[in-house]
Amino acid sequence: MLTQQDYTSTYKPTWCPGCGNFGIHPATKKALAELNLPPHRVAMTFGIGCSSNGANFFKLYAFHSIHGRSLPVAVGIKLSNHDLTVIADAGDGDAYGEGVSHFVHTARGNIDITYLVHDNRLYSLTKGQMSPTSMKGMKTMSTPFGSLNEPFNPLAAAIINGATFVAQGFSGDINHLSGLIKQAIMHKGFALINILQVCTTFNKVNTFQWYKERIYKLEDAGHDAANYGKALAAAIKNHDKIPIGVLYQTSRPSYHQQLDQLREKPLVKQSAEEIDVNKSFDSYR
Ligand code: SF4
Repeated sequence: MLTQQDYTSTYKPTWCPGCGNFGIHPATKKALAELNLPPHRVAMTFGIGCSSNGANFFKLYAFHSIHGRSLPVAVGIKLSNHDLTVIADAGDGDAYGEGVSHFVHTARGNIDITYLVHDNRLYSLTKGQMSPTSMKGMKTMSTPFGSLNEPFNPLAAAIINGATFVAQGFSGDINHLSGLIKQAIMHKGFALINILQVCTTFNKVNTFQWYKERIYKLEDAGHDAANYGKALAAAIKNHDKIPIGVLYQTSRPSYHQQLDQLREKPLVKQSAEEIDVNKSFDSYR
């Protein structure tokens, strides 16, 4: 049996005391161990942000990419070797700011990737500026008089753009989050988990206590994750009462399952001789 230690490198995180990342990493490792996935069968990609130095702390294939680009690297890995479990990991600024176009188009393609977004509602690595998910009116280092923007809604955006698994977790509930990550990894298609994460240093509004007073579990509320309309309604009502759990799950072929070239085996297992380029050229005649 694998344990969390099997996915843990010798490097120690330098996050601030109480940072939600300290809950998200064990939840991820717990899920991988319970699914008994050997580290060499898992690839994780990271963007830029406080959470993205996670590339150093996991012992598996890890790639620290650039801002907003954890998804395209993950897509490349998945389409090269779809036998691997591929997890993309990013913060809210990275995922919904710099990387928002990748988010939308990876959802549309239903590429079989689990996307873990550490949503602390700020750009924290750069010392607390407004991010796409900052609440309207929130005072940050870049909005001293309060943010004027409506917050981006990642759950609704994922549902309406074709994601086939959409969930929300909380960094303060490791067991619940780990269960969601397991479900997302097992799901065949694009799976978003927006993880509500506390930032003890810069976000003095959305604290652990603030979330505890508002969070409820969808499974306790009898939510039907197969119902598109109810999922969208739950995603939109993500303010005073905040849902965690699986909002939406459906089934449709993932991207690589629709490609004739990848139907038999992953690209990395095909030799150049096996690939009949003339057939492709002929199709253009
Ligand atoms: Fe965590 Fe915030 Fe510190 Fe970054 S600044 S390590 S998000 S507590």
